[in-house]
Amino acid sequence: MNDAIVALATPLGQGAIHIVRLSGKGADKIIDLCFKPNNRQRWMEEKTFTLHLGWFYTEDDTKLDQVLVSKMIAPYSYTGEDIYEINCHGGLLIARRIIETCNQQGARLAEPGEFSKRAFLNGKMDLIQAEAVIDLITSRTDLSADLALKQLGGGLSSRINELRQEILDILSYIEAKIDFPEDEIDEIAFIELSKMILIAKKNALDINKGSKKGKIIREGLSTVIAGRPNVGKSSLLNALVKEERAIVTDIPGTTRDELHEHIKIGEILLRLIDTAGIRESHNLVEKIGIERTWKALSQADIILLLIDATELKIHSLFEEESSILKEYHEKTIVLVNKTDIFSDYRLDQHLKLNNVVIIPFSVKEGTGFAELEQEIKRRVFEGEAAISDQPLLSNIRQIQAVEKSIYYLIKAQEGILHNLPFDIVSIDIRAALEEISFITGHQVQEELLNNIFSRFCIGK
Ligand code: GDP
Repeated sequence: MNDAIVALATPLGQGAIHIVRLSGKGADKIIDLCFKPNNRQRWMEEKTFTLHLGWFYTEDDTKLDQVLVSKMIAPYSYTGEDIYEINCHGGLLIARRIIETCNQQGARLAEPGEFSKRAFLNGKMDLIQAEAVIDLITSRTDLSADLALKQLGGGLSSRINELRQEILDILSYIEAKIDFPEDEIDEIAFIELSKMILIAKKNALDINKGSKKGKIIREGLSTVIAGRPNVGKSSLLNALVKEERAIVTDIPGTTRDELHEHIKIGEILLRLIDTAGIRESHNLVEKIGIERTWKALSQADIILLLIDATELKIHSLFEEESSILKEYHEKTIVLVNKTDIFSDYRLDQHLKLNNVVIIPFSVKEGTGFAELEQEIKRRVFEGEAAISDQPLLSNIRQIQAVEKSIYYLIKAQEGILHNLPFDIVSIDIRAALEEISFITGHQVQEELLNNIFSRFCIGK
């Protein structure tokens, strides 16, 4: 399908300019019908990547707006088709009428992500890059934007493609041997094959190495804010949301709920689990027996356990606090809150025993935030530089495919060890190849494509 499609590429609403994107077969005829360039000769002569000032006319030849049209001609364009981007004045009414005019002249409205889907289908980018485009658009931290940009640059794609080629070579090797059954499959062939599989497996493992970190950068660290009533959970949440809200409330489609699900501490995105619990009852820990709370705690990558400094003056830890620490001391960071009122608290023996990290905190005065960020960074990045030059895997679909291919390569290795016939071993190699091919889109199902591109916005 390469019929002409049209959509608004800028966000809905009023602004300085809007951009209407038109792409596909016949887009050149449609634009010629609606756009009268000031310099017709230049418009006709200049081929691709040029910008032209002129007037846009409706189908009944009424002047609609003065516009700038970018001309990008196939195959050197985002979609690989002819694209015209009409920069008009930023009222929605004008943009809408431009789109309607294009519709009347034969372009249909684009579906979400349809421009990018065409870019993929026309070989302008692979699925890793397409998914990086949407990740870049939806990035909330500089780190995740950096990661998406690296993937868009194709570094990850070429590593995956190298791996795919290695697996293809293994298959060809096996097939060459199977094709000549009268030749005895000798010891050397077994050794050679084991070597090839070993190398492919090592590369797959290497590619998968930073994926946990990549996933956290992309999706955020799943976090529970836990603590007894009145320790300051909502106050902490609000303090962290405040900064984020300033950035994202203007982005259409960002609901208040989402805001409460994602917060940032420095450059790390936290994905909060069970914020509703905090808001509903202020009472997360009292419900400690409740399955939901424990489920949230068990799912979390990190637990921020707030303890009230003024309580420590009188008590040691409450039972609920101890039980969280007992079960999850490795992933818990204790924030001793309200140190602005009382800071001379005694560290409980239990905390010391479990080597738990304790940060003196005051939501009210804003102390402890930097230390908390430092501590989370230390855990996420294990002291390494934030993103290495090696592009990381970050997307769960891609990670799972690499993991599955590693599984099949190991199975193939075992098959060889057990002297299984080559055609049996080749079944696992094929399965490994298939998984890797799903990542870049060398092999692809319509359903997967629809699933990926429906996450894009209209006009992208
Ligand atoms: P939650 O029940 O755990 O969500 O606790 P809240 O966030 O509702 O806080 C309970 C009370 O403690 C409120 O009156 C807050 O203003 C207060 N509070 C929260 N953090 C601090 C802090 O760091 N210092 C002081 N002095 N008061 C705080």
